[in-house]
Amino acid sequence: MQVDGVSFSRRAFLMSAAAAPALAMETGGLPAKGFFREPSRDLPLGECDVIVAGGGPAGISAAVSAARAGAKVRLFEMHGALGGVWTSGFLGCLIDFDKSDTDREILRRLKDMGVLLDRNPHRKNIRATSFVYDPECMKVVCEEMCTEAGVEFFLHTAVVAAHRDPSGRNIETVVTESKDGRRAWRAKMFIDCTGDGDLSAQSGCGFDVGGPGGTNDQPASLCAMVASPHPDRIAPYVVNHPSNLDEKGRHAESPKKKMREEMIRAGLAPSYSMPTLFMVREGIYVWMMNHVYGLKVDDAAGITRETVRVRREVLESARALAKLGGVWDGFCVVATAEQLCHRAARRVHGRYTLNVADVQSGAVFPDAVTTSRFTVDVHATTAERNRKAAYGTMGVKARPFQIPLRACMAKDVDNLYLAGRCISGDFISMASYRVTGSAVAMGEAVGRAAARAAAVVL
Ligand SMILES: Cc1cc2nc3c(=O)[nH]c(=O)nc-3n(C[C@H](O)[C@H](O)[C@H](O)COP(=O)(O)OP(=O)(O)OC[C@H]3O[C@@H](n4cnc5c(N)ncnc54)[C@H](O)[C@@H]3O)c2cc1C
Repeated sequence: MQVDGVSFSRRAFLMSAAAAPALAMETGGLPAKGFFREPSRDLPLGECDVIVAGGGPAGISAAVSAARAGAKVRLFEMHGALGGVWTSGFLGCLIDFDKSDTDREILRRLKDMGVLLDRNPHRKNIRATSFVYDPECMKVVCEEMCTEAGVEFFLHTAVVAAHRDPSGRNIETVVTESKDGRRAWRAKMFIDCTGDGDLSAQSGCGFDVGGPGGTNDQPASLCAMVASPHPDRIAPYVVNHPSNLDEKGRHAESPKKKMREEMIRAGLAPSYSMPTLFMVREGIYVWMMNHVYGLKVDDAAGITRETVRVRREVLESARALAKLGGVWDGFCVVATAEQLCHRAARRVHGRYTLNVADVQSGAVFPDAVTTSRFTVDVHATTAERNRKAAYGTMGVKARPFQIPLRACMAKDVDNLYLAGRCISGDFISMASYRVTGSAVAMGEAVGRAAARAAAVVL
C-alpha cells in the first residue's frame, strides 16, 4: 500500500489514525477493536493573519518577518523554548550564516551578549560564515526578537491537526494541544516550520522521506552540554579552539579524529565516528558524539526508545573519558538536549523540487529567496557506513545554488508555505540547504510573502 509515496504494510496502516474512517465502514460504523472514537466537541477559536507552526530557526525568522510586514502572527512551539535545534537541540554551531538580514541581526544580538565566537578566530580577509554560540542565550535572543516584533508565541503547544476549507485547497483551521487542552485557530496563511513537516502531513500534503533507493535517511543525534575544569588540557580536542586553527581555518591535526582515538582508548565505540566538541565558553562545550539510525518522524515509541538509549550513551561516554584522568579529569555532562534532532525528515512536495542537478550546476531562479553555499553533507546512513566514514558528499560537488520561493510553497495546499528543512527537495539538495543559515533566510522571505498574501486574501 502506498501512502504519500511511502510503502506501508496493511497492519501498519490499520494501526494508523488515517485508517479510522475505512475501519468504521468495515465494522458497521463502530470503532474497530483497539480504537476509541473521540467524541466531537466545540473548541475555543482564535483568529489571526498568519500561523507559524514550529519555533526553530526557520519559524522564528518567518514569524518575525511576517509580523514586521504588518501581519498579526501566532507561533506555536511544542518545546519549552524557541530556537528548535539551536536551543532544545544544543546544536552550538551556525553554518552558512551571513545571508539574510535576520541572520545578521541574530549575530549582532549574540555578539552584544558576548556569546558569539567566530568558528575561525584567526581568519584574515575571509568572510565569516560559521559561528559558535551559547544555546541558553539563543533562547533569549529568539524570545526577544519575537516579542519586539509583536509575534504572539505559545510554548509547550503542539500543532496536532489541520482541517481544510470546503474548496479542499486551503487550510482553514489548525488544532493545537497544550496545558489548556485543545484549541482551534484560523488564519489566512500558514507556514510549516516544524522541521519534520508535521503541519503539511496533517493537512494531507504529499512528501518524501529517506535516501535514494529506499535507504535510511540521514541519522539523528542527541547533543549535550559538557564541561571540563581543565580547558587548557582538552583544547586539542576542541574544533573551534584558537590554539588549533591556522588563519585559513585549518587544523594541523583533526580534533575530531583525536577525540575518537581518546574514546577508543576509553573502551568506547562512538556511534558517530567524528565526535565533535565546540567551545561555547572556556570550560563549557557542546558535544555531538552519536548517530541514531532509521528513526521515523511519526514513531513516538521509537523516538522515546532511542532518546533513552542514546542519552545513556552520552553519559556513559563522558564517564568513561573522565575515568582516563589526565586530560579528561572532571569531564562531565551538564545537560543532554531536550530534542533528539533529525537531520532529515519529511520533504514536503512543493511547486518546485530542488534536486541534485541544481546543486551541481549552481542553479539560479527568478524567484530565488536565498543561495545555499554549504557543501553536500550526508552523514552515514547506517552504523556500518559510519565505521568507514561518518559523513561525506556522496560524490556530489556542490556549487552555490539558489532556493526558489516555489520550493517553499506546498503543492497540495494553496495557503501553505514551507521554510527550513521540510521544504521541497531531494535527498542530496536537502543535505546542503538544511543548515540554519538557509533555514533563517527562507523563513525571512516566506514570512514576508505570507504577510503580503494575507493582506490581499479576504
Ligand atoms: C545533529 C545535527 C547537527 C547539525 N549541525 C548543524 C550545524 O552545525 N550548523 C547548522 O547551521 N545546521 C546544522 N544542522 C541542521 C539544522 O540544525 C537543521 O536542519 C535546522 O534546525 C533546520 O531548522 P528548522 O527550523 O527547519 O527545524 P528545527 O530546528 O527542527 O525546528 C523545528 C521546530 O518546530 C517544533 N515543532 C516540531 N513539530 C511541531 C509541532 N507539531 N507543533 C509545534 N512545534 C513543532 C520543534 O520543536 C522545533 O522547535 C544540524 C542538524 C542536526 C540534527
